[in-house]
Amino acid sequence: MTRPFNFSAGPATLPEEVLQQAAAEMLDWHGSGMSVMEMSHRGKEFTSIYENAEADFRALIAVPKHFKILFMQGGGLAENAIVPLNLSRGASADFVVTGSWSEKSQKEARRYCDVQIAATNESSGHTSLPPLASWKLRRNASYVHICTNETINGVEFQDLPDLKALGSDAPLVIDFSSHAASRQVDWSRVGLAFGGAQKNLGPAGVTLVVIREDLLGHALPACPSAFDYKIVADNHSMYNTPPTYAIYIAGLTFQWLKRQKEGEAENEVRGVAAVERRNIAKAKLLYDAIDHSQLYLNNVSRDCRSRMNVPFFLRDESRNEAFLAGAKTRGLLQLKGHKSVGGMRASIYNAMPLAGVEALVDYMQEFEKKHA
Ligand SMILES: *Cc1c(COP(=O)(O)O)cnc(C)c1O
Repeated sequence: MTRPFNFSAGPATLPEEVLQQAAAEMLDWHGSGMSVMEMSHRGKEFTSIYENAEADFRALIAVPKHFKILFMQGGGLAENAIVPLNLSRGASADFVVTGSWSEKSQKEARRYCDVQIAATNESSGHTSLPPLASWKLRRNASYVHICTNETINGVEFQDLPDLKALGSDAPLVIDFSSHAASRQVDWSRVGLAFGGAQKNLGPAGVTLVVIREDLLGHALPACPSAFDYKIVADNHSMYNTPPTYAIYIAGLTFQWLKRQKEGEAENEVRGVAAVERRNIAKAKLLYDAIDHSQLYLNNVSRDCRSRMNVPFFLRDESRNEAFLAGAKTRGLLQLKGHKSVGGMRASIYNAMPLAGVEALVDYMQEFEKKHA
């Protein structure tokens, strides 16, 4: 049986190999006589699962030694509060608004600190990135927040901003929920990165936080202990019971990522470099198909189009329902756009094979011909 291709924005498609392995190990993990769900989080079995997941994630995206990796709960939305509780010192934070997620982040942070919008792309309808030269960063800001891939609007930073070059010493906080491990991260420009797992890393329920060590230990007194990064780090993410099964599936996904390779002999690349190469090819195929058609339209500036989330519209919106129904009969699932944007959205995360994007493009072309 071949499974349909699932273009959901999140929770999203996982590698089939991961699901099969989890199914095979469901009743008895490695001869332990237990499902991973039934194990003590402090026992040697789960400890090995946790340690491998952490080491693999660190290796995959080359996290330097002076950063801690935390496995937390609450998702991206909880981080919108947890970050200011830990980093703002009750003072100020600057936000660059580039779409729905960074907008939500800055609203939440206002409960904890003085927030300023340093730049916004609102005048373009969230379809471009505000030029770095226009960012108004404050000297005394505790941190600067950006969302490096706007899942809903389809806008992605292709490079991280160098805040030092913009005259700011503040740590950069990135919400990389929807493109974590799809490409490498320049950690020299980052103070903290967070991402919910359910887009590109695993199932819902676990949030990955990567934090530079000097940023630990500054939580506000009101910060819940379970959300104090220093307490979480000192306890190796086991201050309270972590989401063990979600960590296990994320760990299997990291192992799958490590196995990926692309290219022949001398130019063979592995891991994230391999999926990045594939992600570039997948995105190019889909954007080219949209740009060369008379029916489909994507409004995002070419220099910041997301490789992961591709929103598009039918110029004749009366055909939306027919488009979605036809897609479903071909095994192309969850293509409906976010309600705030409308139209369609194809999320083509790491786990979406090139064959899935090819099947989508074939269907789009066939649908356009039929309705020309
Ligand atoms: C999905 C998403 C979130 C929210 O994640 P939750 O787990 O639902 O809290 C935050 N930021 C970005 C960029 C996202 O894509």
